[in-house]
Amino acid sequence: MRAAIYYANNDLRIKEIDTPKIGPGEVLMRVEASGICGSDIMEWYRIDRVPLVLGHEVAGVVAAVGAGVKDFKAGDRICAAHHVPCNECHFCKTGHHTVCETLRKTNFDPGGFVEFLRIPKVNVKEGIFKLSDKTLFEEATFVEPLACVLRGQRAIGVGSEKFVLIVGSGMAGLLHLKLAKSLGAAFVVTTDIDEFRLDAARRFGADKAIDAKDYTPDLIRKMNGGRLADIVIICAGATSAMGQALKSVERGGTILFFAPTGKGETIPLSVNDLFWRTEITLRSSYAGSPADYAEGLKLIESGKINVKDMITHRLGLDKIQEGFKLVVDGKDSIKVIIKPQK
Ligand SMILES: [Zn+2]
Ligand SMILES: [Zn+2]
Repeated sequence: MRAAIYYANNDLRIKEIDTPKIGPGEVLMRVEASGICGSDIMEWYRIDRVPLVLGHEVAGVVAAVGAGVKDFKAGDRICAAHHVPCNECHFCKTGHHTVCETLRKTNFDPGGFVEFLRIPKVNVKEGIFKLSDKTLFEEATFVEPLACVLRGQRAIGVGSEKFVLIVGSGMAGLLHLKLAKSLGAAFVVTTDIDEFRLDAARRFGADKAIDAKDYTPDLIRKMNGGRLADIVIICAGATSAMGQALKSVERGGTILFFAPTGKGETIPLSVNDLFWRTEITLRSSYAGSPADYAEGLKLIESGKINVKDMITHRLGLDKIQEGFKLVVDGKDSIKVIIKPQK
């Protein structure tokens, strides 16, 4: 079968490799759609482990099942989670499923930018989700990113009456925007440096989309009756954007750190100015649990969150280099979907 092997963001090679063999309890998936994620292009995070097969936002069809698999059969339309928790450790028992050791170790074999992938037994147990006949494979690739976004917004209590600032209007920021609106947030402001993304934010329901170079926290005060934002969600890795975000949260408010910085970068943080008399909360959240995936799929299948309008490019596996370039450039694209089947 064909696979896209990652060496660097500008060096992906299509190679013939063996189709994975499945054992008892495992599932072979024919990959029909595979989303390029912002994390796929975090070269500093990948480069020490190359060559790699990336891709974790997958949907397709069950091609074969191993002995003992009862819940799935060849032909089932599915999406799947690459990371699954053990449900038994200290972290899982305290609700932090996504920092579980098992979750960090689990993955597809060999990855998502291939024609076929093996879903290991531990993933089959809780990490496969059947799609309705009407759900498109390309829509189902959003279940993973939406699961991450859902987990983050649950952690910080996005809901009605909240004034939300989303820093960064790339794919993650826009998905946060859509979810916040669907959860009834009173007012959602997004920022970005790119006009294409700001336009997308406006189309997807942002009450205000502001060019990051014009942004100041005072703009939020003007829109929010003199107060800063109740909730700030950071979806940009630039430390300057993070600095802005820290100054944009109102007393008693919450900041969600959703994006990582570049390698080794830090942000200055004044305890006295930021914390000492403010009662603000700094939160992080990572990945999604099986429950988050299930909820994400429900939101997509019910039509509560439209993801189809976020897809700007559909490319065959042979064109994956072009896809990575689009995501790296971050201009004129939101979601790039790879379709591995010929
Ligand atoms: Zn992803
Ligand atoms: Zn665990």
